[in-house]
Amino acid sequence: MKIPTIADAGSIALIKRLFRDNGAGLTKSYILIMVLGIGIAATAAVHVWIIKDVINEVFLERRADMLFLLSGVIVVNGLVRGFTLYFSTLTIGRVGNAVVARAQRRMFDHLLNLGVDFYSRTPSSDLVTRISHNAAAARDVLTTVFTSTARDLLTLIALITVMIVQSPLMSLIILVIGPITISGIVALVKRARIVARAQFASLSAVISGMQQTAHGIRVIKAFNMEAAIRERMAASIDQVRLRSDKIVRLRARSSPLMEVFGGLAIGGVVLFAGYQTIYLDMQPGAFLSFLAAMALAFEPARRLGYMQIPLEAGLVGVRLMFELLDTKPTMELNADGPDLSVSSGEIVFEHIHFGYAGETPVFRGLDFTAAGGKTTALVGPSGSGKSTMISLIERFYNLEGGRILIDGQDIATVKLSSLHDQIALVSQSTVLFTDTVRQNIRFGRPDATDAEVEQAARAAMAHDFIMAMENGYETVLSDESAPLSGGQRQRIAIARAILRDAAIILLDEATSSLDSESEHQIQLGLEHLIRGRTTIVIAHRLSTVLGADKIAVLVDGRIVEEGCHDTLLALGKHYARFYRLQFERRDVDRPRGGRTPESVALPAE
Ligand code: ADP
Repeated sequence: MKIPTIADAGSIALIKRLFRDNGAGLTKSYILIMVLGIGIAATAAVHVWIIKDVINEVFLERRADMLFLLSGVIVVNGLVRGFTLYFSTLTIGRVGNAVVARAQRRMFDHLLNLGVDFYSRTPSSDLVTRISHNAAAARDVLTTVFTSTARDLLTLIALITVMIVQSPLMSLIILVIGPITISGIVALVKRARIVARAQFASLSAVISGMQQTAHGIRVIKAFNMEAAIRERMAASIDQVRLRSDKIVRLRARSSPLMEVFGGLAIGGVVLFAGYQTIYLDMQPGAFLSFLAAMALAFEPARRLGYMQIPLEAGLVGVRLMFELLDTKPTMELNADGPDLSVSSGEIVFEHIHFGYAGETPVFRGLDFTAAGGKTTALVGPSGSGKSTMISLIERFYNLEGGRILIDGQDIATVKLSSLHDQIALVSQSTVLFTDTVRQNIRFGRPDATDAEVEQAARAAMAHDFIMAMENGYETVLSDESAPLSGGQRQRIAIARAILRDAAIILLDEATSSLDSESEHQIQLGLEHLIRGRTTIVIAHRLSTVLGADKIAVLVDGRIVEEGCHDTLLALGKHYARFYRLQFERRDVDRPRGGRTPESVALPAE
């Protein structure tokens, strides 16, 4: 995916947008985090500030009244500090979780609005990574920003203030050490950013490798491809490890940098303060307070330098998330357009030009008509464009030229959802969702009653096998665990389509052969489904072409012949050749002349 709208925006711009996008509803939490941050900084300052009085008043001056007062202040201060830290951590954590949930919802909503064209050019592993990893990255960035600004930065400012007040002269040391350390950190951050990007790419490779393996496990096993797959996966995993190691190395380098310069600073201060106390007889309270402030400042300062690296790594994810959210849907939904109104259901392709992005055109001026209420069978070699015709009627893709009319209305101008309402698509591979059988059928029409669902299942010849399952209609199906045969899955899909009660049926017949009993049942279900409706079917079975009102033969994106079976066979051209090659060859096992609508599975092209 390359829609680099904000890919090059600066890190600050990204963080700003992250806050803006997550502003609504969270403003109160943001304010609370800042207030608690001020509390944390103030208590840190009190802790070190008080050291001066403890040393000078209690230990040197030996004042008993101050002893109790100061001890009391220290205890109360610790109490306040403990609670502010607790609530701050709690609030930051909660805001982070809310941001993840929100980011995932937004990405998912957005993905649902994107067209089929987007999905065909984006690997699903990429999307999985984005919705899991990148949403978490948004949390990491926000948490880091909060912890470092609302806590560390404020604490640092408070402590430096204490240092300057206690000893302006010694504070000069910060001016020397500070910039050197910062420039070292900046160099490390730059490199970490590059590595983090590469790491994301390798991680995607690991996830996509896993998905492909799960998908293709049968092929992998059948072809003994385990070793090769293992090697490929190992290489991807190793890459992730090496890059993670590199990030660890870069992170680790920030520690010696800070420690060495920190040691130098503290050593210098001890030398200066000790000299003044020993030789110039000055009270050590202020120096000790200064030293404590510096020691305490060390940790937030280190974290502030250090946080740049996880922040940069997180921003890579946030950037990718925004890239996805900024992908514009290419399909006009026509949400305010007129509804498609269907009378006869005639479908007309008017001089269609179409090609998949970056591919050679599939159609160059295709004209085609499917009569309303009739069944049109599409036959033709693989790759001739049959499935593409179905996709274009569903308006999954934009046309390059021409129009598709349903009862005279251009489908590009009507409300897209109203187009889909009028169509039932039964595709080759039945998609079942992890839900009950009843619900899976009900997807055809969400407001259908239980009785209607069962009626549709009966018509699709699915009722009996559903009832034979342990929990009947309440059996939960999932892609892996559902003990359904291919034929049963298809019948559920047919029931879903029957329930939809759409005027137009688009049917991509399964190429896989089924046992003749299943075939017969499916045939009966289909007959019920397509009766009286405009049906376009990609035909793979002899019974289908025999039963069709019209057969259209598609070759290389053009309709080369149209007519009924007998006419086309008598013509002795394209269809006759297909018939011999694909349909008749399977017929050799059957009694001669047995052209019954009995199902005969056609081989996949
Ligand atoms: P058929 O259904 O007749 O087998 P298709 O409509 O699937 O043919 O394919 C027509 C042509 O379009 C083929 O050359 C095929 O490779 C190409 N094609 C199909 N789907 C896509 C896609 N999602 N992206 C790019 N090219 C595609």
